Amino acid sequence: MTLQLTELDGEHDPTIACRGACARCGGEHVLPVGPARRPALALLARMEREGRIDFDAPDPDPRLSTDYLYGEARGQMFGVLAVRDGRGRTGVLKAFSGQYNSIWEVDGWVPPLLDVGRFRADTFESERRIKAMGREIAGLPADSPARRLLVYRRKKASQTLMGEIHAMFRLPNFRGESVPLPQAVHGPGNAPTGTGDCCAPKLLGFAALNGLTPMGMAEFFFGRANRSGSKEHGRFYPSCLDKCGRILGFMLCGLEAA
Ligand SMILES: [Zn+2]
Ligand SMILES: [Zn+2]
Repeated sequence: MTLQLTELDGEHDPTIACRGACARCGGEHVLPVGPARRPALALLARMEREGRIDFDAPDPDPRLSTDYLYGEARGQMFGVLAVRDGRGRTGVLKAFSGQYNSIWEVDGWVPPLLDVGRFRADTFESERRIKAMGREIAGLPADSPARRLLVYRRKKASQTLMGEIHAMFRLPNFRGESVPLPQAVHGPGNAPTGTGDCCAPKLLGFAALNGLTPMGMAEFFFGRANRSGSKEHGRFYPSCLDKCGRILGFMLCGLEAA
């Protein structure tokens, strides 16, 4: 059960949690923090208290300990979406950005917006080839024509792979539509690597696919500060502009009318 039914208090934080220009209608769509701040604080406190994210598992998986977030990988973003179901009941969904310690799916957390099995099968061979090219490049003399050619070929192979990965993500909106990620991207050029992996698209996608209406969202950073120091433990941040800002317009489209 990924939706945790909870009474939400009347608190409404008007701060914008996520926004994006819409590839479908051209307008801008936003979602405020709304009633999501307190359940997000509760999640943060629970992670600190229990030191793991597999709260519901009888036997804790050491890979899902929060120690991971204080190691070499550093912290990452976590998000909570406050929702209302078709019967008017309220609840919260929770998500971690990307993978957690190389794990895509953890019970009680919303899943990624792609088929993990298909993703692994379809990208395995390309990734292996790209890594092999990298090793070959390292063994070639700097500035040699053979090296330059291989660097070029590796770049092309990476771009092709990224396009294939993006096409595997299907993004729904609140009009009952669902399109491959590249069609949901607003603005010129391809979306960067990792687009679709953040908390916000996972949460909104799950809500849209399960008939849940978002009321507000809050995202916080947990763990050792990132290298640039722009993200600190326990602080709240709006969804990113470089990745999420390109697709959330499409994903939020139709919500005002929902
Ligand atoms: Zn993002
Ligand atoms: Zn729109």
